[in-house]
Amino acid sequence: MNFFTHFLFALTIGVILAKLNIISNELALVCAFAGMLVDIDHYFVHIIKNKTNKFSILSMWNNSIKHRRYSQKSFIHYWKGGLLLTIIFLVIIYFYTQLGLVLLIGYYSHLFLDSFDMKKLKILRFRINKIYFGIAKAEVILNPLFVLIIIGVLM
Ligand SMILES: [Zn+2]
Repeated sequence: MNFFTHFLFALTIGVILAKLNIISNELALVCAFAGMLVDIDHYFVHIIKNKTNKFSILSMWNNSIKHRRYSQKSFIHYWKGGLLLTIIFLVIIYFYTQLGLVLLIGYYSHLFLDSFDMKKLKILRFRINKIYFGIAKAEVILNPLFVLIIIGVLM
């Protein structure tokens, strides 16, 4: 899934928890960014695996969307990283319950969406100048749905 879908899904969960007075509105935003930022590992994997354009965000982006020469997911997308991060989040929950909770939810919301095999989803791909874009057809429905849920919860 793309970063925007990760953001919206985690934000949807966050605003529902905020509406239930479990967390604050600010922490709902933290949840959304946590859900999105898990993919920051793509950039570090790109730096490690490339000999040219190491620090190019455009090159990293286009490999992620179009070229797919290698998986850009690091260990934090798999069970070992999940175990490590879960332990870290549980420690944070012990000291800062709500913050640790939204980090945990953001992270697991990300893994949940990533669990859908992108190779089996129909992807709409297009290019504007040198930048490739790809969106799963499911996201065409999911993203507006998440926005509607967020607006509905906030009203
Ligand atoms: Zn991911």
